[in-house]
Amino acid sequence: MAAEAPMQAQVRAPHVDETITELRKLYGDRVSTAHAVREQHGKDISYHKAHLPDAVVFAESAEEVQKIVELCARHKTPIIAYGTGTSLEGHISAPNGGISLDVSRMNKVLAVNEADLDVVVQPGVTRKQLNEYIRDTGLFFPIDPGADASIGGMTSTRASGTNAVRYGTMRENVLALQVVTADGRLMRLGRRSRKSSAGYDLVKLFIGSEGTLGVITEITLRLYGIPESMAAATCAFESLEGAVNAVIQTIQSGIPVARIELMDTETVATVNNYSKLSLPSKNLLLLEFHGTEAGTKEQAEMVQAIAGENGGGDFAWTGQAEERTRMWQARHDAAWAAKAARPGWGMWATDVCVPISRLAECILETQKDVQKNGLYAPIVGHVGDGNFHLTMMVNPGDPTYLPRAEALNDRLVARALELGGTCTGEHGVGLGKIKFLYEEHGEAVSLMRSIKKALDPDNIMNPGKIIGPGN
Ligand SMILES: Cc1cc2nc3c(=O)[nH]c(=O)nc-3n(C[C@H](O)[C@H](O)[C@H](O)COP(=O)(O)OP(=O)(O)OC[C@H]3O[C@@H](n4cnc5c(N)ncnc54)[C@H](O)[C@@H]3O)c2cc1C
Repeated sequence: MAAEAPMQAQVRAPHVDETITELRKLYGDRVSTAHAVREQHGKDISYHKAHLPDAVVFAESAEEVQKIVELCARHKTPIIAYGTGTSLEGHISAPNGGISLDVSRMNKVLAVNEADLDVVVQPGVTRKQLNEYIRDTGLFFPIDPGADASIGGMTSTRASGTNAVRYGTMRENVLALQVVTADGRLMRLGRRSRKSSAGYDLVKLFIGSEGTLGVITEITLRLYGIPESMAAATCAFESLEGAVNAVIQTIQSGIPVARIELMDTETVATVNNYSKLSLPSKNLLLLEFHGTEAGTKEQAEMVQAIAGENGGGDFAWTGQAEERTRMWQARHDAAWAAKAARPGWGMWATDVCVPISRLAECILETQKDVQKNGLYAPIVGHVGDGNFHLTMMVNPGDPTYLPRAEALNDRLVARALELGGTCTGEHGVGLGKIKFLYEEHGEAVSLMRSIKKALDPDNIMNPGKIIGPGN
């Protein structure tokens, strides 16, 4: 294990030279075979071995995406769609070589429908860019993975974040899509209406498909009114168990918290250092309440009472909006904080999700497991959803470290599945979680395989991901 994920021997896709020559004729300088550009497009921050694409093409419109897909389909050249490259399970790696199709220049907000609370965007728009764009409308888009990811990438990984406990994940917030299928057809899936019973739900099929079924060229998203009152606080607990039980009881009581995030003591220490904060060195819940003045006050009082019964201290309220933003940015930077705490080590961020009633069991067993095996893996989580992450840091100087981390990850997933949960709540499958898919879904994996084969018979769309090699 190197400090960074090692590069794999390069596999070149058959006929890729013809593909690149034709792409160059059409798009000139917007096609790159430079090593640095290919490396940026084939290598994420994870421990997964990186395979570089043979070339990168920067598309600027849906029509260009369609032409590029048609051309690649003719040569059976693999296509790996690329948004901002922040995915964590080897999603953008190119094990069969091929073309990385970068849509980051397709970054226009196409229509804001204030009256209907929805927005239409190109796939390269990032979540922060979108919220900046609509700020004056009094609306906002809540889904917030730690990175400033693209909406196309977030749709394709079925991403979520700290607000999902109140506003749902990408699954609940994408109304419609425009996509280019593997045979080069441009089509619309879904409508702007909030409900539809018209036929198979192809929108949901594409959400979380990780670029294996087609390329998303437009997304219609739900928006929400910025609440009249927003209040954020932290609550410290001596025991991890107390903190998690407070979360479980809050959710079971139906209190509509907007955010309820956990940081264990290890995470708090790294975040204090990295983000120059002085959070108490305890297990911490980070909370946010949205609603009217009276509503947020009432919610906060109810959660404070539950926290108190579970050993939590008094809420420490953040002050102005800037202080609140700083706290949430620190939470979003928790993975970087763990990396900074172990300079030169590799990072492996893994996540699982379990039904809320089993969360304490899953987190406490996992913490014991980390400690027993002498690993460094701070715990952080969108715990209101039953979702938590281990940011496993891997010591490149110790050859036993990576196998021990791998075994920890295997046990973590086995535990989550045993408790009725999933091998990934939000990061997705990519290359890293393929081996758990059958265990989680059983025979349903063969149905996934049939869908992939029907929609992409030549296996050119991000081959090797989700269902593994071949289709
Ligand atoms: C510090 C940090 C914190 C993170 N925190 C979270 C978190 O809290 N929650 C969470 O869910 N994730 C989190 N992530 C993971 C990551 O941000 C998400 O997976 C995000 O959705 C990826 O978006 P992207 O634009 O970077 O996609 P990329 O990495 O570029 O692509 C991801 C996948 O989507 C496919 N894809 C991209 N664009 C398209 C398109 N237009 N059409 C079809 N397929 C496409 C790619 O082929 C690939 O398979 C975090 C990552 C980092 C680095």
